[in-house]
Amino acid sequence: MKITLGDILSGRVRIVVRRRRPRRKLKETPEVAELRKQAKAYLPGRLAELAAEHGFSYNQVRIKHNVSNWGSCSVKGNINLNLNLMRLPQDLQDYVMLHELCHLRHMNHGPKFHALLESVCPDHLALRRRIKEYKLI
Ligand SMILES: [Zn+2]
Repeated sequence: MKITLGDILSGRVRIVVRRRRPRRKLKETPEVAELRKQAKAYLPGRLAELAAEHGFSYNQVRIKHNVSNWGSCSVKGNINLNLNLMRLPQDLQDYVMLHELCHLRHMNHGPKFHALLESVCPDHLALRRRIKEYKLI
């Protein structure tokens, strides 16, 4: 069906703008609750260690649960870490945290970002390949 401006102006056709459905909340299963507990107990301390070791300073760290990223970094210098990190071996956990720490200086994935990541995590390319074997739950 072809709709003309006349159809809309005359009211023959009504345009309805639907609000986007709120994002489905992830279930806090007992497994997720356990991961959250472990993540809160471990990740902030490890992030602080890595930051001190490599001379980064961030604002706050929060533990998140989502299926879209392992971690993220905001322009305000806050770092979010996914509780799923507790399912990874330590070298992959550190890789994600170092990646986010590097975003404190470069908020993109450009050449400067990669050079910095390379300097703090020389194995980053192999680690990036390995992390793809894991799925966020
Ligand atoms: Zn990134």
